[in-house]
Amino acid sequence: MNAPAEVQRDRWYPSPAPSPANENRDAYTNRLTGADKTNREPYDHRRNRQCSIGYHTECSERNSFRGSCECPCHADYRNSELQEPLSSAVLEEASQALASVYDLPVETGRRVIIIASVTFGQGGNFVALGSDISAAYGSRVDEYFADDVEAIYRHHIEESA
Ligand SMILES: [Zn+2]
Ligand SMILES: [Zn+2]
Repeated sequence: MNAPAEVQRDRWYPSPAPSPANENRDAYTNRLTGADKTNREPYDHRRNRQCSIGYHTECSERNSFRGSCECPCHADYRNSELQEPLSSAVLEEASQALASVYDLPVETGRRVIIIASVTFGQGGNFVALGSDISAAYGSRVDEYFADDVEAIYRHHIEESA
């Protein structure tokens, strides 16, 4: 079934698909999962309910290596490099903080913080970070997300200085 013309589907990860100001919490949840039957889900791939609403750590296929949920969080989970804590304690703390603020798996927290350290190491700002995260995931990234990542990153780096 095709989506209505105003719906632009995308990957939306790690930042959640945005909600317009006039949409309440229940309407938002029902749209994300498709439960409202209006065919306005924002995803261009199949997601289980929990991943659709951004509770990635609660997806029933969290530990499955052959699930049908195509949310990008599972690709991070399956990447064994991201399962090991980062060698810098400060970056690992920033990863954990980001994961908990956005309800993301810690593997995604690590991947995004690694991306941030590269972007900022090259003198990039949060706009550059947004496009680097977007390129890494092949997804649309909400502008506020990169801003929050920068704040979390700098908070941990500066606290340790
Ligand atoms: Zn999932
Ligand atoms: Zn997910």
